[in-house]
Amino acid sequence: MRLIFLGPPGSGKGTQAKRLQAQKNWPQLSTGDMLRSAIQAGTELGLKAKEIMDSGELVSDEVVVGLINERLKGNDCQSGFVLDGFPRTIPQAQALDQLMDRLQLQIDASVLFEIENSVLIERLSGRRTCSSCGAMFHLVSAPPKKEGQCDSCGSSSLIQREDDRPEVIQKRLKVYHEQTFPLIDYYEGQGKLRRINADQSLSEVEKALSEIVEGDMNGHH
Ligand code: AMP
Repeated sequence: MRLIFLGPPGSGKGTQAKRLQAQKNWPQLSTGDMLRSAIQAGTELGLKAKEIMDSGELVSDEVVVGLINERLKGNDCQSGFVLDGFPRTIPQAQALDQLMDRLQLQIDASVLFEIENSVLIERLSGRRTCSSCGAMFHLVSAPPKKEGQCDSCGSSSLIQREDDRPEVIQKRLKVYHEQTFPLIDYYEGQGKLRRINADQSLSEVEKALSEIVEGDMNGHH
């Protein structure tokens, strides 16, 4: 299946995308991860993107559409994929539709992770990532077994993303409401929007998502 995960930062898109990748072999295509890799690699693109990302703004449509265009050519994308954090603006969604037309493919569904801002702020501000292996933790809801140490690889470099600092979180939520929110109508208009209550336990969200995926695979929508 070819899915889009739509929803504000911290709504759990990445967690669920990783799970589908493991279960179904549909790669998680996260433009945020691609940009962070470019920053780590110190490429020209990374250097340009860093400042914008650290401020909570969006990088240009052209840049992210270019990244997705390249990534979709990968062999691993042929049987399906999950777009996580892309598209984030109407022009990105239009560019994706054109790309799909050219490849004679279709997006099956756009899954909206719905959740209140107050919950997001608490989720994002407690989020920590292992800078060695990428494992994710949350200081309150999913703390590492040993404080400050990664359960997966043992590294003691659990870091907070620059853009998960409180002042940047506010900005990201504002940007989401101004620029990404209109995509809900866009996909509703295409009959592709599916809604999930993202303010539930991990396993409940998983279950809701599985129902959507199975339903769409069997043509029940
Ligand atoms: P994320 O990891 O998805 O929260 O993305 C982190 C940051 O990367 C965002 O706040 C943006 O600055 C940038 N970014 C990621 N995806 C996009 C996108 N589709 N369009 C524009 N900027 C993006």
